[in-house]
Amino acid sequence: MKLGIQQIEVYKVILRNKEPFRIARGASTESENVVVKVVTDYGVIGWGEASPSKSVTNETPATVIKTLAKIAPKLIGLCPLRIEQDVEIMDSLVKENPAAKAAIDIALHDILGKTARKPLFMVMGGYRTEVLTDLTLGIKSPKEMAKDAVKAVKKGFKALKVKVGIDPVEDVERVRLIRESVGSKIQMRIDANQGWTPPQAIEALGKMKKFNVQFAEQPVPAENLKGLIKVRKNSPIPVMADESVHSPEDAIRLIQAEAVDFMNIKLMKSGGILKGRKIAAIAEAAGIPCMIGCMGESGIGIAAGSHLAAAAKNIQYADLDSDLLLKDRLVTKGGTKVKDSMRIFPRQHGLGIMGLDEKLLGKPLKIYK
Ligand SMILES: [Mg+2]
Repeated sequence: MKLGIQQIEVYKVILRNKEPFRIARGASTESENVVVKVVTDYGVIGWGEASPSKSVTNETPATVIKTLAKIAPKLIGLCPLRIEQDVEIMDSLVKENPAAKAAIDIALHDILGKTARKPLFMVMGGYRTEVLTDLTLGIKSPKEMAKDAVKAVKKGFKALKVKVGIDPVEDVERVRLIRESVGSKIQMRIDANQGWTPPQAIEALGKMKKFNVQFAEQPVPAENLKGLIKVRKNSPIPVMADESVHSPEDAIRLIQAEAVDFMNIKLMKSGGILKGRKIAAIAEAAGIPCMIGCMGESGIGIAAGSHLAAAAKNIQYADLDSDLLLKDRLVTKGGTKVKDSMRIFPRQHGLGIMGLDEKLLGKPLKIYK
């Protein structure tokens, strides 16, 4: 049987946040994402999504659309299941641009699951059947964040990710107040988003130790590898790389430098599920547990991250909440839902996306065939 990609449709979507979301390096009020629909010549279609980040991978919706214009025409006629080869072709056509490539990679994996007639995570290893996700608390005053934390716990969340990285003294106060407000049983991790200098990080993390913080994400700027190593050596809290690790090559570099204890995989940094799995495997061999995170994905990208998290043993933590922070719901039926902090999966095949909001999706900007 010959299986081929017949058509690729590209859509731009603007999804408003429930409230402004602030991290150490900026604030956002909406996500501008690019959705792709890959149509095969045997009736199966796959959905994918790019949620580009200017500050992390230097991508915008415009660069994603431009990249897809170079890639999509060359994929027509190729086999959607030969994902290793399809990704190799994408990489040979365009350097970098991982979010754009992730959109295609995710759609191909959706097709893989649908062709196998199984939920995607079952096709990729099926290690767990549900995934515990945290909820992220954007930066506000310590008091306001403590209130948000209590609200999240009331909704059932068992893990919280606390954004810090603005002012080390106030950041310690954030963590202290939140821990006091939610009690000792809630998992708490922090993310400084590159906001501290190494000495600030060492001091703040030293003071946060007694509030039982699981790990600290990206305490210092990504380009400061020496600083990251120094923080890891002097921090009582394990250090996780996020902005420092995009690709499997980055993972090797960090492992060789003994720079981190954990790594945060994001499909928008890695270029999709295939390379995300490779990072998880490399890290596993080095004894480094991974988390899977997200940028501003809707339910499409979040479903992809959730399926990967369920599939891979070494993805031990999940921060898969961006769809929950959005007021506009692109996925209206299917995908993954959150119940009592757990991402749960429908029985549907692939990513399980059963319906999208047609108004939000709009008409395709481009159709390649
Ligand atoms: Mg992060």
